[in-house]
Amino acid sequence: MFKKILVANRGEIALRIQRACRELGIKAVMVYSEADRDAKYVKLADEAVCIGPAPSPLSYLNMPAIISAAEVTDAEAIHPGYGFLSENADFAERVEKSGFTFIGPTPENIRTMGDKVSAKQAMIKAGVPCVPGSDGELPDDPALIKRIAKTIGYPVIIKASGGGGGRGMRVVHTEAALINAVQMTKAEAGAAFGNPAVYMEKYLQNPRHVEIQVLADTHKSAVYLGERDCSMQRRHQKVIEEAPAPGIPRRLIEKIGERCAAACKKIGYRGAGTFEFLYENGEFYFIEMNTRVQVEHPITELITGIDIVRTQIMIAAGEKLPFTQRQVEFKGHAIECRVNAEDPYKFIPSPGRISMWHAPGGPGVRVDTHVYNNYFVPPNYDSMIGKIIAYGDTREQAMARMRTALLETVVEGIKTNIPLHQDLMVDSKFMEGGTNIHYLEEWLTHRTPNKR
Ligand code: ADP
Repeated sequence: MFKKILVANRGEIALRIQRACRELGIKAVMVYSEADRDAKYVKLADEAVCIGPAPSPLSYLNMPAIISAAEVTDAEAIHPGYGFLSENADFAERVEKSGFTFIGPTPENIRTMGDKVSAKQAMIKAGVPCVPGSDGELPDDPALIKRIAKTIGYPVIIKASGGGGGRGMRVVHTEAALINAVQMTKAEAGAAFGNPAVYMEKYLQNPRHVEIQVLADTHKSAVYLGERDCSMQRRHQKVIEEAPAPGIPRRLIEKIGERCAAACKKIGYRGAGTFEFLYENGEFYFIEMNTRVQVEHPITELITGIDIVRTQIMIAAGEKLPFTQRQVEFKGHAIECRVNAEDPYKFIPSPGRISMWHAPGGPGVRVDTHVYNNYFVPPNYDSMIGKIIAYGDTREQAMARMRTALLETVVEGIKTNIPLHQDLMVDSKFMEGGTNIHYLEEWLTHRTPNKR
């Protein structure tokens, strides 16, 4: 096992990884930007290294600074968390070439899965069902593009091969709008992701977002840890997640889960990963794979009792998965609310000083956050400041506990989206379960304004 790991991230996930290291008796080196100098997890770290000024290209995306920090502190491995460099194959490669272990999949795995066209091709080969679409990247010839769309059938969605974070997508309903949409998506993709390649998929009208968590070791063993329903989204960004996905027959989950675990073995995947699917009319359609730990990993931890971050570290150290698929048991229900520093209904970021913070607690309540009284939320990064997670024997109990937890939470000095979560937790359709990916956006347009 490692003696020392460098955590190349910030915020709640940096603290989450620090905790896993402590539990395993591993020293954690925290890196931080000048904006995160005062963070408690930095102060409490075994060692901490400043890697640059606040803007992430100069700090959390600064590969040479991070690798030098690992060198000067004698760390053996680097955990990238999520976001930032976590899905950057070049970074993984540089980490390994510099003699450190990258806590994640191989650079080749990341490269294949990071490009959505090659990821889909790999999945088709591995027997994972995909959304019907173009066979690879779209050609330049408008007549050919129109023919592909006709074969798939409108509406279609044009997606950037290198896209991520819900950006680089355009839905097209008619042939008249097609070519212009393709050109615009290409231009945007080139500017935003440095790769103008786009592909086409059938646009599913009312799907749910259901994803499968996997863990694979370097000894040819791979398991799935069930699913998460992340359909509650705004602008393709997840807001609430839950596990299991309400109403989906278990045999369908087992079938798709087994396919994902088999695909891991086929592509030689290692570490934690997530297969994202759209689910409609009883069918799963692969959309992409995330080759890292997800924000929403705690809900899976709560229903399986498996520590995903700890297991990531064990796998990277070359250990065998300490359980088989048969030993993975699912129990109860878990829901996660992402707490964002933003105006709850205007969705404008609200960074600044938290003058008062009180975390909820009690049975079945877990709070993953790095914030505390008097913490300053820097304006430079993602607005998510933590996650409130509730567990119960049943979905109803998990929701009841979440309502209490949200009521108990105190955040003063900045605005958060807790009021939005409170409204959703008493919404009758959400309470029924099984709402689709458009539900939240539609709910937001129809809700009575200024309710709070
Ligand atoms: P990103 O990597 O940017 O998150 P994804 O491919 O995971 O992009 O898609 C993000 C979201 O966009 C999905 O959760 C879903 O809401 C929507 N989406 C993507 N592909 C389709 C599709 N073929 N049909 C309908 N919605 C889609």
